[in-house]
Amino acid sequence: MELPVRTDGKLLDVHSVFGTIQGEGPFAGMPAVFCRLAGCNLQCSGCDTDYTTGRGGMSVEDIVRTVCNQPIKTDLVVLTGGEPFRQNVAPLVDLLLGKDYRVQLETNGTLYLDPFPWGNLGVTVVCSPKANVNVRVRPWVKHLKYVLDAREVHPNNGLPTKVLGTYIPQHPWPDFRGTVWVSPADVGDPEQNKRNAEACVRSAMRYGYRVSVQTHKLLGVP
Ligand code: SF4
Repeated sequence: MELPVRTDGKLLDVHSVFGTIQGEGPFAGMPAVFCRLAGCNLQCSGCDTDYTTGRGGMSVEDIVRTVCNQPIKTDLVVLTGGEPFRQNVAPLVDLLLGKDYRVQLETNGTLYLDPFPWGNLGVTVVCSPKANVNVRVRPWVKHLKYVLDAREVHPNNGLPTKVLGTYIPQHPWPDFRGTVWVSPADVGDPEQNKRNAEACVRSAMRYGYRVSVQTHKLLGVP
């Protein structure tokens, strides 16, 4: 599996920095500054995230300044992508923690950062698996997030057998002790969306998962 790009992390390819409401997962409903990093090591067909633009490099100091200048009140920064671990985000995380932000790192789980010096202090790793989750990143993953389509539910654990119609996602590994989230796939068909929501409720009630809906879509924020 591809390793993170080895740079000193002082310049990062950034797609955008913006304030919004975190729509999903453990911090759902919180105001947050999103820092969307450019580039992804996977090129999933069906990806609806623009990760291809924003190459060129922005200094971590400029990124932090842009984060601090967002006109919202929050202590949460979400580093997402694309795939954040494609780049050396360690200096950026250090600077953000130094400014008393909490950092949520959103990853597809195929890459890792070595060393990962923060443990779980101030940093929350949320993984949406699209393939196998790298054994080197597993110790830091505290939340696993799955989008569920009622037509592709595993009979043994209520999790998706596929993501984006093609990819086989990693399910929780034996010593995973974090939280599993399921959220209904939005396929643009109200009837199927209802079945997807029902499938999430069934899985959550049967296996103890947590249901997440895409609050940001309901609220009409990015
Ligand atoms: S891992 Fe996520 S961001 Fe990357 S291509 Fe796949 S869906 Fe898109």
